[in-house]
Amino acid sequence: MSPTAPDAGEPIPFFSQAATFERLWPAVEKALEDVFDSGKFSHGKQVGELETALAEYTGARHVIGVNSGTDALVLLLRACGLRPGDGVLVPAYSFFATASAVELAGGRPQFVDIDPETYAMDPTALDAAVTPRSRFVMPVHLFHTMADVEAVQAVARRHGLTVVEDSAEAIGMRRHGVHAGLHGVGGVLSFFPSKTLGAIGDAGAVLTDDPEVADTVAALRHHGRGGPTLNDFPAISTQSALVGGNSKMDDIQAAVLLAKLPLLEEHIARRAALAAAYTARLRDLPGVLRLPRTTAERPDDRDVHYVYLIETEHRDALAAHLARQGIGTEVYYPLPLPHQPAFGHLGHRPGDFPHAEAAARHALALPFHPDLRPGDLDRVCDTLGSFLATTRTTA
Ligand SMILES: *Cc1c(COP(=O)(O)O)cnc(C)c1O
Repeated sequence: MSPTAPDAGEPIPFFSQAATFERLWPAVEKALEDVFDSGKFSHGKQVGELETALAEYTGARHVIGVNSGTDALVLLLRACGLRPGDGVLVPAYSFFATASAVELAGGRPQFVDIDPETYAMDPTALDAAVTPRSRFVMPVHLFHTMADVEAVQAVARRHGLTVVEDSAEAIGMRRHGVHAGLHGVGGVLSFFPSKTLGAIGDAGAVLTDDPEVADTVAALRHHGRGGPTLNDFPAISTQSALVGGNSKMDDIQAAVLLAKLPLLEEHIARRAALAAAYTARLRDLPGVLRLPRTTAERPDDRDVHYVYLIETEHRDALAAHLARQGIGTEVYYPLPLPHQPAFGHLGHRPGDFPHAEAAARHALALPFHPDLRPGDLDRVCDTLGSFLATTRTTA
């Protein structure tokens, strides 16, 4: 992107939190000073305070802070009793970590095609994908809305599956007043910088109402039970001993997240307003195949716009055109999980997951974050609209 190109305005990044941090700087600076004063830096006072604040925000009985959303998924699956080779049903379209966490925990991903409206696993396809190996189902809540948790729970009950949620993107989302991640045994949050509540590095958390799962996750994030932290010795029997790793959260991340948490509801409202503005501008554009559609229907349901994603036949050409005008976009996600080389050993073929494959061909995320200015949004829509209009007439 060249700022000197004749028709390019100021660059519009895909994501930025510069204005948020400028506004929050006094609070962040004070929070960081407290971390330095404590001298603890890892798994100290700020991590505990963040866990308490997030328990209050989400309604979870237990929140366990860890170093990333990915490790949160791995520890959650292990704490729920995943045994080597257990099948975990996951959507064919998601971020890599949904499936990699299953393998890292020793399980085997079993892919399910998505509902093209919600990008989440399709409950009918889920029912058909269950095998004797299946022991878990892990719906993912992507982008702006939640998986149909009630339908997933019904399938899980029928087949005796344990439900855990990849709610890494879903902070603030609720169904029937229950926060994402608390519809099964547990869920996770990611605080990767670009997430709805983003840190200044990596961090994540496990949410659960189950005290045993919470205990086990807490042990696993710090080397396990009956091992190098022998403060619990000799109460730990070989049977309850557990080998864990180091997945602790940094206090610097916890401090920044605590400073940002009071802004979260305002940011969610701002995201809703920006998404509505995008939709109003793009709704009737020729060449746009799909815009985000909420499935929150009741007063105690809530969706949160984490990214704003459109679908178009001309995705790659459009992304290149926007990039030439200094407008950042991202492809979420360029390849369905079963077709990524890392999961090639599972033996899936093109055509096995038609809805996931169509989404991977057509989906493009537009610049979207609470600091996005209305003028920037207008420029994105103007640039996109004029490109799709000419692409259509010359096609
Ligand atoms: C971000 C994300 C993760 C992983 O979170 P990290 O904190 O980046 O490890 C997992 N699943 C989904 C759906 C995500 O969007």
